[in-house]
Amino acid sequence: MIPKDSDCIFCKIVSGEIPCAKVYESENVFAFLDIAPVCPGHALVVTKGHYPTLLDIPEEMGAELTAALKAVGNAVIKATGAHGLNLMQNNHEAAGQLVHHAHFHLIPRFTDDGLELWPQAPYENNDEMTRLAADIAAMSG
Ligand code: AMP
Ligand code: ZN
Repeated sequence: MIPKDSDCIFCKIVSGEIPCAKVYESENVFAFLDIAPVCPGHALVVTKGHYPTLLDIPEEMGAELTAALKAVGNAVIKATGAHGLNLMQNNHEAAGQLVHHAHFHLIPRFTDDGLELWPQAPYENNDEMTRLAADIAAMSG
């Protein structure tokens, strides 16, 4: 059975209870335009089931999700004439997640559009990088 949350806005969009500008649908995946886009054509790809974050999505949906991201991503580029595309995915409030139903942002990008999505800086010392790599490798393997 597909998990649902009756208070979730994206569950209501998937079920048709709330209208959306739908652009794609497959067995377990749904996509529509973001109502407040970074730029026109900004699309959201969501699982039909209610999984709070990416880390909760069943692994067996991986291939279907990737197919949806490629199909919608290519279509967004063609429809907008974009020169590039960002795939963004926020998990938990600290990372900017406002809607707690896993979703992927597909954002069309244009040469010289001036958007700067995140600041970066090198590690202050190499030991920290080595230690974190070892910890993450041990915990993900
Ligand atoms: P996030 O911050 O990653 O959780 O992104 C949630 C996104 O959902 C935001 O970019 C909102 O603009 C978008 N959003 C919220 N409500 C709707 C809606 N009813 N239809 C389309 N997009 C929505
Ligand atoms: Zn939901």
